[in-house]
Amino acid sequence: MTASETRTAQGGALYVVATPIGNLEDITIRAAQTLAQASVIAAEDTRHTRILLDHLGIARPRLMALHEHNETRQIPSVLRMLHEGAQVALVSDAGTPLISDPGYRLVSTAREQGLNVFTIPGPSAVTAALSVSGLPTDRFVFEGFLPGRATARRARLETLSHDTRTLVLFESPRRIRDTIDDVSMIFGADRPLALCRELTKRFESVRRGSAAQVAAILHSEPDECRGEMVVVVGGVEKAPVSAEIDEALLLDQLADVLPPRVASEVAARLTGGRKNAYYKRILQRAGTHRQ
Ligand code: SAM
Repeated sequence: MTASETRTAQGGALYVVATPIGNLEDITIRAAQTLAQASVIAAEDTRHTRILLDHLGIARPRLMALHEHNETRQIPSVLRMLHEGAQVALVSDAGTPLISDPGYRLVSTAREQGLNVFTIPGPSAVTAALSVSGLPTDRFVFEGFLPGRATARRARLETLSHDTRTLVLFESPRRIRDTIDDVSMIFGADRPLALCRELTKRFESVRRGSAAQVAAILHSEPDECRGEMVVVVGGVEKAPVSAEIDEALLLDQLADVLPPRVASEVAARLTGGRKNAYYKRILQRAGTHRQ
């Protein structure tokens, strides 16, 4: 389906358009069509977006700047254009808008006003990194950028250290060494980790190892601290369970007071076990009780 086919008969539409995270050939056909047909392109950095538009041969686009510092100010004029029937494409510098990028306030206000909002999905550094990290992808948590100050960063890592899900973080070259040192200290030197750098670009690299091994690489090979990077950290093997907690008893008690899906989720969070396995056990238990 092309962008024009997804439009409703009247009224404008806001298209949230994902763009490449490095290699311009990763633009999707729908994204290129949407950008070519848009009445206005709201871009995080118009100069940056112009490079992509030139590559796509889109001449004389109508561009407006919409970034972190002017989003609130720009929202009324974008909404006015949408109410007047404009097709507005929202793009960020790279990847999917709103993912550690501007656009949230615009999309939520457009939704509140009942306007059309469509996704034109495509690249994101989050999914790109996860897909090549070699770490479990069935359950993951994305934390964006950690706080810059050491105390706040460590406090955030403390809260994440017992999570059984894979953790995905954005990081800057300036802070990467400190962050990986902190992960190694707080999560444990053995925690598996993948540092995914410059994905889809010339110097793409993925360094896999324990937190301590990757920390050592960063201290001995300064080039590994360069460029754009995503840190993927394996979840804790099993959350610490108090020896007194009997798993069957826990499931019985939770299933008595909670719906099966919620009970299995809570049990998985408490024990680090698998939600689906608990869910099946709760259903089996309910079947046994009915007989
Ligand atoms: N919205 C974007 C997305 O969906 O990918 C992310 C924007 S965020 C401001 C930029 C961060 O994404 C970078 O600091 C880096 O952590 C990560 N990133 C972007 N491009 C990347 C690439 N090619 N390789 C590795 N990480 C990348």
